[in-house]
Amino acid sequence: MSTRGLLFILSGPSGVGKGTVRKALFEKEGNELKYSVSMTTRNRRDGEVDGVDYYFRSREEFEQLIEEGKMLEHAEYVGNYYGTPLDYVNKTLDEGYDVFLEIEVQGAMKVKEKVPNGIFIFLTPPDLGELKARIIGRGTDEMSVIDERMEVAKQEIEMMSHYDYAVVNDKIELAVERIQCVIESEHLKVSNV
Ligand code: 5GP
Repeated sequence: MSTRGLLFILSGPSGVGKGTVRKALFEKEGNELKYSVSMTTRNRRDGEVDGVDYYFRSREEFEQLIEEGKMLEHAEYVGNYYGTPLDYVNKTLDEGYDVFLEIEVQGAMKVKEKVPNGIFIFLTPPDLGELKARIIGRGTDEMSVIDERMEVAKQEIEMMSHYDYAVVNDKIELAVERIQCVIESEHLKVSNV
């Protein structure tokens, strides 16, 4: 009987709506997940609360924590540090709760190195999903599309192969339901029972 919680990592390309989907997931009732509040050096936006949306810290403080090994992962994104404090994750998993991270792709890949049994969920924009289906279905005959978007999409698809699940964010409520399905089925795995 496993008593440790499971670690879920929601990630995906920038602009796909990770934050919105995560907030909608946590607003749902009956949710036993614990959200790991990230730390960042970016400026606080209007309405954001320290300790709720992020732990807002200086670069010096952040670098000190990295040096002390206190971050599970960190990444630099648009000139600022973002990272997951390690103690909260360990403590909460040990207490038997599932922990949920919402982080960008570089950070997710670092978590994968450290926590291979984490459950990695890739949130994709709907057109990327369609694109993927087309590529898979038709082989190489769809190569007429040669714009920058395709390049980006290809890179994103490549990243997707490192994940356990792909969730299309066509509608927020549907994306949330799919993530809930993932969580439920992970708990039904014999290895996790
Ligand atoms: P924003 O500045 O818009 O809140 O977040 C920018 C990006 O940083 C988003 O893609 C978000 O998912 C990501 N992010 C938030 N927290 C973390 C974290 O702890 N680690 C990493 N690697 N990325 C994060």
